[in-house]
Amino acid sequence: MNKCWLRCVKCSRQSEFQLEGRCAQCGGTLLVDYDLEKVRSTFTRNSLSQRKLSSLWRYHELLPVRHLDSAVSLGEGGTPLIRLQGLGSTPDKKQIWIKREEQNPTGSFKARGFSVSVSLLAERGITKVAVPSNGNAASALAAYAARAGIEAHVFLPSDCPPLIVEECKLYGAHATLVDGMIHDAGKVIEDRKTEQGWFNVGTLRETGRVEGKKTMGIELAEQLGWRLPDIIVYPTGGGSGIIGMWKAFHELIALGMVEGELPRFISVQEEGCQPLVDAMADAAGASKAIKCEIDHSVSPTGLRVPLPPNLDLVVSILKESRGTAISVSKDEIKSAQLTLGKQGISSSPEGAATLAGWLKLQHTTDVDSAATVVLFNTSHAMKYYPVGVSN
Ligand SMILES: *Cc1c(COP(=O)(O)O)cnc(C)c1O
Repeated sequence: MNKCWLRCVKCSRQSEFQLEGRCAQCGGTLLVDYDLEKVRSTFTRNSLSQRKLSSLWRYHELLPVRHLDSAVSLGEGGTPLIRLQGLGSTPDKKQIWIKREEQNPTGSFKARGFSVSVSLLAERGITKVAVPSNGNAASALAAYAARAGIEAHVFLPSDCPPLIVEECKLYGAHATLVDGMIHDAGKVIEDRKTEQGWFNVGTLRETGRVEGKKTMGIELAEQLGWRLPDIIVYPTGGGSGIIGMWKAFHELIALGMVEGELPRFISVQEEGCQPLVDAMADAAGASKAIKCEIDHSVSPTGLRVPLPPNLDLVVSILKESRGTAISVSKDEIKSAQLTLGKQGISSSPEGAATLAGWLKLQHTTDVDSAATVVLFNTSHAMKYYPVGVSN
């Protein structure tokens, strides 16, 4: 087993590795630490280049499972990194890449988190799980739980794209629509979990998902020849994708495996539900709890998370990386979806939002003209039909 333990990001207390994602002392988020000296003995650029495994499990030394044999895998990770061509009129040497996370099982990067999370649940004999979700977390959990023989209960806002609800049922999950937002779905689970015997695998509730999402960062570094990009543009909802990649880059830097500094993270949100943008704009920082007003015209996507579970942590990562947060309109998202379509790429509203955000920011931020920029296409367009680009 990989030697690992947990550390609370709030009170810094260290504890033994467990599934529960919140500190028993202070309620802070628990993240996994590894014995990097031990990791270093087998996890090298050279050894990785010889590995045949193309799924995220090729990075198993930096994942908290007991045995690689217990990995619950459907072929997640190993997604293409494609260079975008002829964007705008910029005659400079910038390289704009798009990480095609829509190629994952279940059509979104959520597969990465649940491959690791469900592997941990299965190792510990958990038989019933529940998740509140805007859609993609639900279908990813449903698929991996099915694979592991675990009963899955998913709770979705009632305006969730209908194809995703069907997809959850296809994998045999119990799907319940909830009147309200993702946090209302979360409340239903909290109220019923003891009586029902469910383990809540919601964002930052358990310690595996961030580790799974972390592999987006490791994989990106490997694909770029172990040179970190300058800028990462990421569509942010609950925030665990950013937390995971930030963690990945720090681990790779500590291992001495990468060149370059921590990339600047740019979070993109939809106008009307932009708690991160508001927190970044607030001079007092995120410590002053900011309550995002709920605008009911905001699209039901993975970006619609009015109350992220640990906004402070995401804000501190954006600040540490000299990054920022920006919001884009529905029309800007739609237009970016069409621009990506013209390059042969099917993007979800969230994925297209990264291009929309980048097009808006590139002229206002001090960006080196030779910067390497990576956009994350976190899912594809089809899951969201009939609310697609055509209407
Ligand atoms: C969940 C989701 C997001 C938001 O990601 P976080 O890591 O939770 O911030 C973005 N895009 C898609 C398609 C999603 O499903």
